[in-house]
Amino acid sequence: MSPDTAILRLKPAEDRRIRLGHVWVFSNEVDVDRSPLTDFERGQPVIIENSKGRAIGTGFVNPGTLIAARLISHNPSEMLDRAFLVRRLRRALELRERLFNEPYYRWAFAESDGLPGLIVDRYGDVVVLQINTAGMERVRDWIFSAIDQLVHPKAILLRNDSSTRALEGLPSETGCALGESDGLIRVRENGCEFIVDALKGQKTGWFYDQRMNRTFMREYVRGQRVLDVFSYVGGWSIQAAAAGATHVTAIDSSSSALDHLLNNAQHNHVSDRVHTIEDDAFEALKRLKADGERFDVVIVDPPALIKRKKDLKDGIAAYHHLNQLAIQLVHSGGIYISCSCSYHLSRHELANVLLTAGRNTERRYQILQQGHQGPDHPMLPFIPETEYLKAFFTRVLFRESTVQGQ
Ligand code: SAH
Repeated sequence: MSPDTAILRLKPAEDRRIRLGHVWVFSNEVDVDRSPLTDFERGQPVIIENSKGRAIGTGFVNPGTLIAARLISHNPSEMLDRAFLVRRLRRALELRERLFNEPYYRWAFAESDGLPGLIVDRYGDVVVLQINTAGMERVRDWIFSAIDQLVHPKAILLRNDSSTRALEGLPSETGCALGESDGLIRVRENGCEFIVDALKGQKTGWFYDQRMNRTFMREYVRGQRVLDVFSYVGGWSIQAAAAGATHVTAIDSSSSALDHLLNNAQHNHVSDRVHTIEDDAFEALKRLKADGERFDVVIVDPPALIKRKKDLKDGIAAYHHLNQLAIQLVHSGGIYISCSCSYHLSRHELANVLLTAGRNTERRYQILQQGHQGPDHPMLPFIPETEYLKAFFTRVLFRESTVQGQ
């Protein structure tokens, strides 16, 4: 390690969380008399010391954000260089190669894989990156070359247009960092194949985090009429049809998402059983209810309705409203699958949303199983922020006393 690496000194007792394994240092935990944050550049590498001057790890600083520093290692002599990136990416890759027999997965999930702020999604021979921290941005060329060394992709694409980047003071950009690709790429999941737009679609083009929950879903849909709300390009819809659903209705407000969905239906030979509604989900649900429509299986997998803690109240109200509308479209004895990818909505709170929706609509639930993000999105017990995706698989029963239940 270079002797002139800058030092970030913590206040007394502020190393406690880090000793437990967390990797964030908040700005109010820094001893700014000894190491003023204004002295640091965005993304600058540092050695982190406790208040007694003992080195407890290495990381990088962003003087402009609430999270003032992120550790990359609890070993004070390990620095963020190209060899480090190769080691961490290789360790992450080993897990995925063991889990999946095809190269379609989230290869690196930021903090969970020891790479703070770095998202790497693998789509066969194309790799899509989202670099969400200034520290990782600083070493982006090493990231590209480490990925190239490990898997020799045909192309590396950048989806550096997340709102987190703006918070980090980083510019928004999308494009090709290596090789060539028009952004239209192939994804394979649970025996189906999809074409998605990695440069213009949601996130990096696909939601790998739902893979296991979509696998569970397949058990419930054979011979059933299915409604998929917030369908995007058909992750749930197409897999439901492929698993034997007789009729699938997909709702999304994005016409381009639905165009992709219909192409994907054709690609998987299920076009005759897949239909779309292009509309606001809340409006579409209200209309379906007014028309007296009912489904055997309803899936609700919305975008994060609570993005920041300050949106908590409105966000929870939106989850209540949405679930209350959706549950009314399920036949008695039908299956209702409700998901949330909002970190700020706890599993307990989502269960409460379901309970309230049931109470207000004279229905009861049996919870049949619960889902999490898939294993290519590992959770770290000492970093609760790494756990965000919840899915409840329920059976809906009308109250015996209601006429509808006859
Ligand atoms: N369930 C999807 C992921 C959802 S992504 C999957 O498994 O792949 C969020 C989707 O919700 C996007 O396609 C977006 O177009 C859509 N969306 C966002 N707000 C919406 C609204 N109010 N009504 C309908 N669709 C909406």
